[in-house]
Amino acid sequence: MTATLSSKPAHDIDGRIHCEGLVRIYKTAEIEVLALQGLDFHVEPGELITVVGASGSGKSTLLNVLGGLDQPTAGIARVGGHDLLGMNAQQRTAYRRSAVGFVWQQTAKNLQPYLDARSNVEFPLALSGFGRRERRARAEKMLDLVGLLDRVHHRPAELSGGEQQRVAIAVALANEPRILLADEPTGELDTATAIEVFDVLRTVNEELGVTGVVVTHDPLVSQQVDRTVAIRDGRISSEIVREGAGLDRGSVIAREYAVLDGAGRLQLPEHYVERLELKRRVRLELEPDHIGVWPEFEHETSRWERPEEHGFGDDS
Ligand code: ADP
Ligand code: MG
Repeated sequence: MTATLSSKPAHDIDGRIHCEGLVRIYKTAEIEVLALQGLDFHVEPGELITVVGASGSGKSTLLNVLGGLDQPTAGIARVGGHDLLGMNAQQRTAYRRSAVGFVWQQTAKNLQPYLDARSNVEFPLALSGFGRRERRARAEKMLDLVGLLDRVHHRPAELSGGEQQRVAIAVALANEPRILLADEPTGELDTATAIEVFDVLRTVNEELGVTGVVVTHDPLVSQQVDRTVAIRDGRISSEIVREGAGLDRGSVIAREYAVLDGAGRLQLPEHYVERLELKRRVRLELEPDHIGVWPEFEHETSRWERPEEHGFGDDS
């Protein structure tokens, strides 16, 4: 094996994520939880996107499925050419080791407390069978990339929270996966530090061409990328696409898109529904180039709400 860090992906397909109708049901003794309810999700190789959504909406479930840590109940999940529903235990272990890198919110979960920064990055390389010299060279290259070459001999306890997460990114990328998954990696950090860590995620995305999927609840962090997908009740409900994000933040144009699934279902953004007081039914009108959505006609409901206007029930 060679110790070079390729800046260009060998196979572009290795960075692609494609999920269709993804379902994950958790069964406990009494109840079934539908954590993912037919989720459609696509990420192009080299893209960096953020995932937002209320607590319990299914963000971690999605990331755990993509990371090979959890098995979906049904649907299609293809990550970098791997079929996540068709892998055996051995393939799954190999997949976790080299196809994807994972960063957790809890800094302590990402790193071995008794190893210094360099040994932490070398650890997954040792598991992959790299020799001592190659391990060292790769680890130092990765720590340089995340801006911590001056901290190689610090243990996690001797690093700040932000530095620990930067080491965690280096650890996740040690085996050169083409995909990096991060579940609220900045959740335990203040906003300034969170943006610093996110800048490192952006650097590895740009320098290594790694595809990045980052769950975050920090709006300032989620706005740093070209595309943000929102999850609601185990489905992608909307997407925000920004033009010029990360280049000139003063002139970013953001557009909100609803996601149309394979069955033609569309989830309207919650604030649109509230503003127009849309209820159970809406009226649709097909125009040559768009579809209009109106609240149900007044007279369509009034017959039952005000029966007297229709000659019912008013005897006086
Ligand atoms: P998020 O990360 O967006 O907060 P999760 O993906 O963790 O959401 O959870 C989605 C739903 O699935 C929640 O209702 C949660 O309670 C449920 N859930 C997650 N993991 C399990 C599990 N191991 N067993 C049972 N239910 C679970
Ligand atoms: Mg979560």
